Formats: sequence, structure tokens, C-alpha cells
Amino acid sequence: MLAVRNLEVVYDDVMLVLRGVSLDVPAGSVVALLGANGAGKTTLLRAISGLLGVHDGEVTKGEVTIDGEPVHALRPAAIVRRGVSQVMEGRRVLAELTVEENLRVGGHTRPREIAANLERVFALFPVLAERRHGVAGYLSGGEQQMLALGRALMASPRYLLLDEPSLGLAPALVRRIRDLIAEINRQGVTVLLVEQNARMALSIASHGYVLETGRVVMDKPAGELLRDEDIREFYLGLG
Ligand code: ATP
Repeated sequence: MLAVRNLEVVYDDVMLVLRGVSLDVPAGSVVALLGANGAGKTTLLRAISGLLGVHDGEVTKGEVTIDGEPVHALRPAAIVRRGVSQVMEGRRVLAELTVEENLRVGGHTRPREIAANLERVFALFPVLAERRHGVAGYLSGGEQQMLALGRALMASPRYLLLDEPSLGLAPALVRRIRDLIAEINRQGVTVLLVEQNARMALSIASHGYVLETGRVVMDKPAGELLRDEDIREFYLGLG
């Protein structure tokens, strides 16, 4: 299980952005993390994957544990080796490298598993196999999102942190990405899914959390969140 306990995060020594967040991502599950812009979702993912320091952020209280072991003081590469991979918002592929080169970069922490992981990624995303020697910058938005997912899978993660994978994609592609995330989960990868698209996230998650200005304000099974009046109004536009 990935567990976050009473986590407090500060940017630039003064700005308190997470105010005591606790959340559980049980092994094997998909958990959705919802919230408006600026609520602190990306900050929470960065805190889990050890990337806060890069952004002048600091954990000032609380802890993150993976299978009971505290990881919040580890470097990002050590956290990746413990089985956590993050796909950042905006599908940051290395635009000048080929599809295969991007995937190989993603696999650098597991050099012995590169061949098997390439095969697995190409089986999940046949379009990446077709474009294997093509330059990543020329892929469509949906294909770049697949490449970003594939690159994260190259590290053989047990936990995958996804930051808005549906952002900017047309509805048919959002469904495709959702189905692929569900398939990755069926293959045994636990997923923490940050999404503005609450409908998409709650359709595959078993549980959801809502973050508001750095605090968890709702923590419920996905089915209950889908029926909640406030969620329907603010996140599903069904008010
Ligand atoms: P979004 O969906 O817009 O990314 P979010 O819920 O992911 O929103 P965060 O990106 O975690 O929210 O941002 C939470 C708060 O922290 C915001 O007020 C933001 O301006 C601030 N913040 C984020 N990154 C930094 C940084 N590197 N330095 C200072 N403040 C930051």
C-alpha cells in the first residue's frame, strides 16, 4: 500500500500548500484524486515521487510510506527503484528523440528489463510499435500521452502516479486512455489518478479523494462520489 499521513508541504519556505493530507492507495486499486486548479494535487504527486525539491517545495510534516517503509526523505531515483513512477502533466516526451529512445530513457533504472518492458509497452500500445523509429515530437497528443505512459511503465512500477492524462484530449481519446489505464491496472499496477475529468476518473477508480486548498474534504467510494450532489454540480456539470 502507498500511504500518505498528515502531509504538510511548503513552497519557498512560507507558502503552506498541503495542510495535513492523509490518503491510502491500496495495492491493486485505482484511486482518484480530484480537486480544482491549485488545490495541491500536483504537489501531492511530487511529494510522493520525491520531486518537490526540484520545485523549491519541502515536506515539513507527516510522511509517505510504500509498503510501510518511509520514502519522503529519499531521492527521486530511489523512489522509482522502490516501484513508483510518475507521468507528469502535459505528457513531457523528449520531442527530438524517437519513440524507442524515449522508452529506453524510461527504462534506465531497470536496464536488465528493457527488452521485456519494450515488448509489454508495444503490446499495450501497438501504435507506438508502428512509430518506434519515428520522432516523438511528431506524434499526436493522444499518442504522446501513450508514450508518456509507456515510458513510465519501462521502470516496471508497482505504483503509477498519473497527472491529468486526459488533459486536452478529444472524448474518444479520453475513453481510450481510460481503458488503457484500466488494462494497466488489471496487469497488476496500482494507480493514483489525478484528474480534472472526474467522470473519467471515477469510472475506473474504486475510491476517490477531493482536495480543496490543501486539505482532503471528501474521501469516499467512487460510486458514492458519483452520486454526491456537490461532486455532480462542481465536477460533473450536472447541477
Ligand atoms: P493544477 O491542476 O492547476 O496543476 P493542482 O491542484 O495540481 O492544480 P498544485 O500545482 O499542486 O495544484 O499547486 C498548489 C499551489 O501551490 C498553487 O497555489 C500553486 O500556485 C502553488 N505552487 C505550485 N508549484 C509551486 C512552486 N514550484 N513554487 C511555488 N508555488 C507553487
